[in-house]
Amino acid sequence: MNAQNGHHNMLRINADRLLADLDRLRCFGAQSTGVVRPAFSDADMQARYWLREQFEQAGLRSLIDGLGNVLGFSRNPGKAILMGSHADSQSTGGWLDGAMGVIYALEVARCLSESAAHRHLAVDIVAFQDEESRFVGCLGSRSLTGSLDHPTVQNAVDKDGVRLVDALNHAGLSGTPREQLDLGRYLGFLEAHIEQGPTLEAHAMRIGVVTDIVGVRGLKVVFKGQQNHAGTTMMALRRDASTSLYEFAYRINQCFAAHAAPRSVWTMGRVKLIPNASSIIPGYAELDLQFRDADEAQLERFASLAHEVRELMTQSSGVDIEIVEARAPIKPSRMSEALYQHLEQSAQEHVPDAWMHLPSGAFHDAGIMAAFMPSAMLFIPSIKGISHDFAEDSHRDDLVLGCQVMASAVASMFGRQ
Ligand SMILES: [Zn+2]
Repeated sequence: MNAQNGHHNMLRINADRLLADLDRLRCFGAQSTGVVRPAFSDADMQARYWLREQFEQAGLRSLIDGLGNVLGFSRNPGKAILMGSHADSQSTGGWLDGAMGVIYALEVARCLSESAAHRHLAVDIVAFQDEESRFVGCLGSRSLTGSLDHPTVQNAVDKDGVRLVDALNHAGLSGTPREQLDLGRYLGFLEAHIEQGPTLEAHAMRIGVVTDIVGVRGLKVVFKGQQNHAGTTMMALRRDASTSLYEFAYRINQCFAAHAAPRSVWTMGRVKLIPNASSIIPGYAELDLQFRDADEAQLERFASLAHEVRELMTQSSGVDIEIVEARAPIKPSRMSEALYQHLEQSAQEHVPDAWMHLPSGAFHDAGIMAAFMPSAMLFIPSIKGISHDFAEDSHRDDLVLGCQVMASAVASMFGRQ
């Protein structure tokens, strides 16, 4: 990137050090071009011990708490900014998802401490645990904000039947206390992340300033008919759960499309037919209907539309249709404009007119943090929009630029250059 401005004391990141640390973190659980570093795996814990050491060397008081969160606290008094992301990966994940935001936070803390004009500023950093939901999605940020209850920890099990309490024991964390953040200490939380989508690349933009994180609702639609013989049961007499499901899905696609906002998405990614055999009329069927939007009113609209379709169909068919919640809803969260205007200014300074606003279609720890303090997120482009895959990657100059934009924004939040 070019440094064409005259602020001689402007905060400058060390690009080589940043890239070297990203490459180093990538080694923990490296497989092919990606990483296998699910929460509490040996690779994940080794990465966390390495991170704690780096945080310490950056001059921070650092620790790993009882749920595996790695924290680095500035020794400076006064209001602080919290920066970070997650260090765990999907079971087969990319090397930048989460990791990038953690290393950005480390680099920003380091370059603040090296600058005479900035070393008194307080920046705390965090590598959250289990954002990717091996046990509990955003486990680390939920716990640090005091929004995780004891039974959730006691009962959590991964998809292979491993209990969280056993994973904690295996990771050597059973006797370690869980931290809770002193929420009053913070001006806000800042998370950098790869976009994990195609929007920035499609618009030839290099920086994204996140306005909202979308909410998610999941409904389970249950169809109850009568199982019967596919050869002898005349059409007029059938109570076929599957045809009812197909019609429901068709109607949802029609009416959701008619009432969608520009970035609304919906998915019917799972169905179940019983008995699921060619010569038997199914007596029972299930359909998962999931939808996402950044606007709670839009999610509400979709939910009522689903119920309207159900009522309409119940009147005309012999199949009972029931709609229940398939998952706890996640509300959309608004990022803090007071905070993200510093990201806008910084982006405009470093790459004039090559940044844009966008909502995040994926959930992030910042979505948890936003309920407790002003929060903001910065995105850099993902090559071809690919993520949660070994092929996930970003251009090196974008990796460097994103961190520089974060560093300048943090200085600006403290009223500095
Ligand atoms: Zn992530």
